[in-house]
Amino acid sequence: MNTNSSNMMALAPNTSNKRETVCIFGTGDFGRALGHKMIQCGYPVVYGSRSTQISNLIPKDAEVLSHAEAAQKAAIIIVAIQRQHYNFLTPLAEILRGKVVVDISNNLKLNQYPESNAEYLAQLLPGARVVKAFNTVSAWALQSGALDASRQVFVCGDDMEAKQMVMNIVRALGLTPLDQGSLLAAQEIENYPLQLFPMWKFPIFLSLGLSAFFFFYCLALDVIYTYVYEKNNFSFFIAITIPNQICPVMALILLGLVYLPGVLAAIIQLYRGTKYRRFPDWLDKWMLCRKQLGLIALAFASLHAVFTLVSPIRSFVKWRTSKAIISQVLNNKTEPLDTTNAWLSDSYLALGILGFFFFVLVGITSLPSVSNSVNWREFRFVQSKLGYVTLILCTAHTLVYGGKWFLSPSAYKWYLPNIYMLSLVVPCTVLVVKFVLIFPCVDKPLTQIRQGWERNPKYSE
Ligand code: NAP
Repeated sequence: MNTNSSNMMALAPNTSNKRETVCIFGTGDFGRALGHKMIQCGYPVVYGSRSTQISNLIPKDAEVLSHAEAAQKAAIIIVAIQRQHYNFLTPLAEILRGKVVVDISNNLKLNQYPESNAEYLAQLLPGARVVKAFNTVSAWALQSGALDASRQVFVCGDDMEAKQMVMNIVRALGLTPLDQGSLLAAQEIENYPLQLFPMWKFPIFLSLGLSAFFFFYCLALDVIYTYVYEKNNFSFFIAITIPNQICPVMALILLGLVYLPGVLAAIIQLYRGTKYRRFPDWLDKWMLCRKQLGLIALAFASLHAVFTLVSPIRSFVKWRTSKAIISQVLNNKTEPLDTTNAWLSDSYLALGILGFFFFVLVGITSLPSVSNSVNWREFRFVQSKLGYVTLILCTAHTLVYGGKWFLSPSAYKWYLPNIYMLSLVVPCTVLVVKFVLIFPCVDKPLTQIRQGWERNPKYSE
């Protein structure tokens, strides 16, 4: 069979509605799932396999031939076989010359081989037009139609026309092709499916570490101290009281940590008098995971809201309330309304509710589906301005809640400050520095630096 004719057919503009035949090498999980989807979308599919026996797992409208015969029937060959078996392709190099060969393979480890699988395939088949695609889509998602999480298909290759042909197939399957450039991008594309929440690692470990620290801190002060000195068994605090102390503290500290790198970066730029020098690596990495820190902070704030809402139905709270009422009855004395206390309690609740509202608003705009629908200025406004409003409200909520007993000696059990006092260190530092940074005498040079001005141009080398 003339191999060139099939190429010509595929490259010619498709004037009829009939789709061109696609060849899939390998009748494994991915090959079958992709073939099934392609047949559904109107593509004739021919499999190249080591065994030409038709099994009932193979889509019933597909043909199964030897690799050489199948390759001759199509201009596009999708290699659904692991890289370690690619050697079998070497004898097929002549048949595959000029054809579009799609590498869909993944590896088991990041940067497992010196070159990407797609580049390796291109070396084995020097005349073929190799394109990398489909590796981020799973066989399960193709088969079950649950493609929401992996609708994007990263495509790369050195031959523009070949890449376009593959992208057309991707679109026809209802997926979204994302052109990632030349075959040099293949290694990165092959690493995508192996990454496990790379931006979440630091925020998650930090949150776990800080939560564990605050848990033992509260356990020592609220349970062990009370047991040792007051002979009260408050071990049940572990279930709700302590978590409801940790959650707001974590939310506030993490929210502070979202804005701290920004003010540190401003100080560094002011000190250096230029924006053209790289920030230290730790600051760069910290800035990159601010969104994740913010979302974890929002999760803690939401838990705090839920824990607070269930407070009135807790048996300990009911007991404490009825004890206060009974003591008034026994003493035949009604305690007068303390308006200062009423003001403080209503104020901290109002600040908390407002703070939580803005927290949710900032969190929602950081989601890709929402952030993609606002322009850069709107995004900056919500993330920066409303973010600072959230930080101010949440800090004020904590200050009003604990302000009056922060200074009382009874708040210092074992000479240790209450965790609410600890939680204020980061946000107050951020707010004080930010306050200084917005003074015109500081803000003006900082704005100039951010617009490209340099105090000492030697830094721009
Ligand atoms: P699989 O179920 O193990 O199928 C691999 C197929 O390769 C076999 O069915 C066999 O087909 C063929 N094969 C095996 N040994 C061979 C050899 N020595 N020479 C020639 N052909 C051989 O694997 P899979 O899950 O379909 O994955 C195939 C490729 O797709 C892999 O590179 C994988 O990284 C990639 N991928 C898979 C998924 C997924 O969700 N499974 C997702 C993205 C990418 P025949 O018996 O028909 O020859």
